[in-house]
Amino acid sequence: MSQIEDLVLAYRILAAHGVVDAYGHVSVRSERDPYRYLLARAMAPELVTADDICEFDLDSNVIHDPGASLYLERYIHGEIYKSRPDVHAVVHNHSPSVIPFGVTTVPLKPLFNTGAFIGEGIPTYEIRDFQESGDLIIKTPHLGASLAKVLGPKPAALMRGHGSVVVGPSLMLAVVRSVYLELSAKLQMQAMLIAGPGGQVVYLDDKEVAATSGRQSSAGTWKRTWDLWCAKARAQIAAEQAARRPRRRK
Ligand code: MN
Repeated sequence: MSQIEDLVLAYRILAAHGVVDAYGHVSVRSERDPYRYLLARAMAPELVTADDICEFDLDSNVIHDPGASLYLERYIHGEIYKSRPDVHAVVHNHSPSVIPFGVTTVPLKPLFNTGAFIGEGIPTYEIRDFQESGDLIIKTPHLGASLAKVLGPKPAALMRGHGSVVVGPSLMLAVVRSVYLELSAKLQMQAMLIAGPGGQVVYLDDKEVAATSGRQSSAGTWKRTWDLWCAKARAQIAAEQAARRPRRRK
């Protein structure tokens, strides 16, 4: 399985789970050169194929496709790879259930097993602290670097009024975390609603987070999940290819 094929599957998986819609993107650090990363050209994630994957340097200049239209927010990826040698994949999304936690003082908390990594801390990026233009888009290296700085060593950061960025030591873990960040945000809202203003929601404590999140960082943990999601994404791609193939006359 090539890195490009894996990245195409990652785009499809994120779209299938509603983490990205027409916007949002996922990248992977090149296994041939740690100072390069792979990202699609500017397009809807669900339509990405291997032909759409471009290579970038860490300043987010495209290497081989000078004519390609590029994501304005590609600096998110390049600047995080610069500041986090441990990070091998980056997801930027407008994950709908996560957005309310970026615009309120209610913190996202670890609520269930697969969302344990949230207990490592999810900072919120306030773009007003770094520019005055009124635009929420990470469209310059400066803004990308400021986001990377707020992210620090954490697995994800919320972007106020915009979405989030999720990182991982592997493509698989960045995708898994993105899917479960969306689900966990939704479940937390439901739990808080059920509990009501005076009620109490029991979250994972620090010990549970340390035990669970640490174990889940190992590659084997998510194999069943990842294999399932990849199989579904491959089936979708195969169906698209079959539909495009010209039918033979009888
Ligand atoms: Mn965005």
